Amino acid sequence: MNNQINRCRSSFKRLLSLLLVLVMLLSLAACTANPAGPGTTVGTPSTGTKPTTTTPTTNPTTPTTVPAPTEPSVPPTTEPEDPAKYELVYTLTQEQVDEFYRLLDECEQLSIVGEDIDAIEASMEALDEAYLFLEEQHSIAMIFHYSHMSDKDLEQQYLDTVDIATEANDAYLQMARRVYLSDTPAKDILFEGWTDEDIASLLAYDEEIAEIQKRNAEIGVEYRATKDDARKIELYIEMVKNNNAIARYYDYDNYYTYAYEKVYNRDYGMDELAQMRQFAKTYLVNDFYTSLNNFYAYFGNLDASVQQRVQDFLFNSYDEQRADYVGMYIDGAPESLQKALREMLEHDSLFTKAVDAKAGAFTTMIGERSYCYFGPGYWSSTTVMHEGGHYYASLYSDLGSIPLDLAEVHSQANEWLFISFLQDKMAYSVQRSTVDYRLYENIAMTLICLMVDEFEQEVYSTNLTGFTAADFDAIMDRIAKSYFPDGNVKDYLADMNYYWRQVVVDQPVYYISYAVSGIAAVGVFTEAEKDYDHAMAIYQKLCEEPVLDEGFLANLTAAGLPGPFDEDFYKQLHEILEERKNR
Ligand SMILES: [Zn+2]
Repeated sequence: MNNQINRCRSSFKRLLSLLLVLVMLLSLAACTANPAGPGTTVGTPSTGTKPTTTTPTTNPTTPTTVPAPTEPSVPPTTEPEDPAKYELVYTLTQEQVDEFYRLLDECEQLSIVGEDIDAIEASMEALDEAYLFLEEQHSIAMIFHYSHMSDKDLEQQYLDTVDIATEANDAYLQMARRVYLSDTPAKDILFEGWTDEDIASLLAYDEEIAEIQKRNAEIGVEYRATKDDARKIELYIEMVKNNNAIARYYDYDNYYTYAYEKVYNRDYGMDELAQMRQFAKTYLVNDFYTSLNNFYAYFGNLDASVQQRVQDFLFNSYDEQRADYVGMYIDGAPESLQKALREMLEHDSLFTKAVDAKAGAFTTMIGERSYCYFGPGYWSSTTVMHEGGHYYASLYSDLGSIPLDLAEVHSQANEWLFISFLQDKMAYSVQRSTVDYRLYENIAMTLICLMVDEFEQEVYSTNLTGFTAADFDAIMDRIAKSYFPDGNVKDYLADMNYYWRQVVVDQPVYYISYAVSGIAAVGVFTEAEKDYDHAMAIYQKLCEEPVLDEGFLANLTAAGLPGPFDEDFYKQLHEILEERKNR
C-alpha cells in the first residue's frame, strides 16, 4: 500500500497525504464518504430505473422511476445484522486520543530544535501510527452508524469520532505550519518532497475550516434523517455556503471550481465539459431512446418467466441467483483479480439488509485496508462487481490517491467485463436482455450525472439566500429541459428533482465522475466484445499500474480507451445500438 511508501524518513511527507485527506474531507464532509477519514470513499450510482414486465411501446412510460439511492429493492429483514462480526471493532479510548496529542507536542519540539534527526524520525513514526488509528476508528464508527442509522448511540459515537479525527487532522496541520514558520535548521529535511503548491496549501489552511467540516458532518446526519423537505433545503443551503467558504480560503470563487481542481484533481476543464454536454445532447439523448427501445423490443416479447429471470439477475442479491454467476466470473478471472474479489467477499465487506441501514454501496479505507459496504437493496451481482473493482484497484494504489474519475472506471469496467464474461454462461435471451439493459442504464446514468453536475455548477455560483425548494426545482427543470426539449425527462428517465435531493449532500461535485468514467467503461465492453482477453488485460493494467501522477485522461489514452471528449466514440456507440436494433 502506498501509505507505507509515503512515510518517508524524517520528513513530513505523511502530512502530504493528510493534506490530501483534508482536501477530501472538505468535499466529502457529511457524505457517504469519510468526513474526516483517510482518503476517499467511492460509491455505486444508480439510475434507479428498472425494467418492468409490461409491453414495450415506442413512447415508453416504463420503466418506472425509482430514484436511488434510497429505495431498497430487497425486502429488508427484521433481524438487523451485527457489524461487529465482520471483525470491525471500535475500541477508541480517551487515553489514545491524549497519547496522539502528547506525541504531537513531542514531535513539534524535536522538529523545531531540529538537531536529533533520529529522534524526530522515531517520534514522527509513532505520531503517524497514532493518527492512523484515530482515522481507522472513525471509519469503523461511520460503518457502524450506517449499519443502524436509527441507533442514537451509534450516531453520537460517529459524530464524536468526526470531531476527534477532524481536530486531530487540524492539530497536525497547524503543528506542521508552526514548524515550517520556525527557524528550525531541519526545515529542508522535514519538508523534503513538498512542492510550492503543497506549502501554499499548508499556509492557506485555517482552523475555521475544521469547524466547518464538523458542522457539515452534522448537516449530513440530519439531512439523511429528516423527512421535512423545507428543512432539507435549509440544510442544503447551509452546506453549500459552508463549502463555498472553504473554497474562499484557498482563493477560489466557489466550491464547484475549487473541487474540480483540488478535490478531484480533474485533468479537464470547463471547455471540455461544455463539449461533453454538447455530445450528450447531440448523441446520447437519441441513444438513450434507442437503447431503451432496444431493450423493450426484445425483452417485452419474452415469456413472463424469462423476463423474471432477467430481473432476478439484474436486481436480486448475488447470493440468491439460480447459478453462482459471481463465483463463475471469479473462477475465470486472472489470478490477481480473482484473489482480490475473494478477499473482498470473504473478509473485507459488510452486507446488511437491516431496515435502518443506509441504502447504497461504497468502498472506503479503514486504516490501511479497503472495505466494502453493501446496504439494503444494493446486493446485486453487478453492484458487487462495481465495488469489487474499486477494491481490486485499491490493493495496488491507495484509494485516496486514485483520481475519482479513474476510480469509477475501475468499478464500472469490472461490471462490464462480468456481463461480457457471462455471455455464454446463461440463456441467450437472458444475456441479450442484460446487455441491452446495461447499455441503456449506462447511457441513462451518464445523462443523469451530467444533469446533476450542471445543477451543482449553477447552485454553487448562485446567491441562495431565500431560496426555496421550488427555486431549486426550477433550476433542475430548466437543465433537464435543455437535454430533453421534446418531453418531460420524468416520463422516461427519473424525476431529477427527487434525484438531486438524494445525492448532492452525500458527495458534492462528485457525480460527473460517473459520467466521464461511464463512457470509458462502455469502451471496455465494446473491446471485450471483440477480444475479451485483450479487454481484460487493458483493465488489469488500468487497475494494477495506473499512472497516478498523470490524470484520468492520460490513463485512458495510455490504455487505448475512448474518453468522454472523444466524438468518434459517441458515433461508434450509436452504430452499436443501431446494429443491436436490427438484430
Ligand atoms: Zn464507484
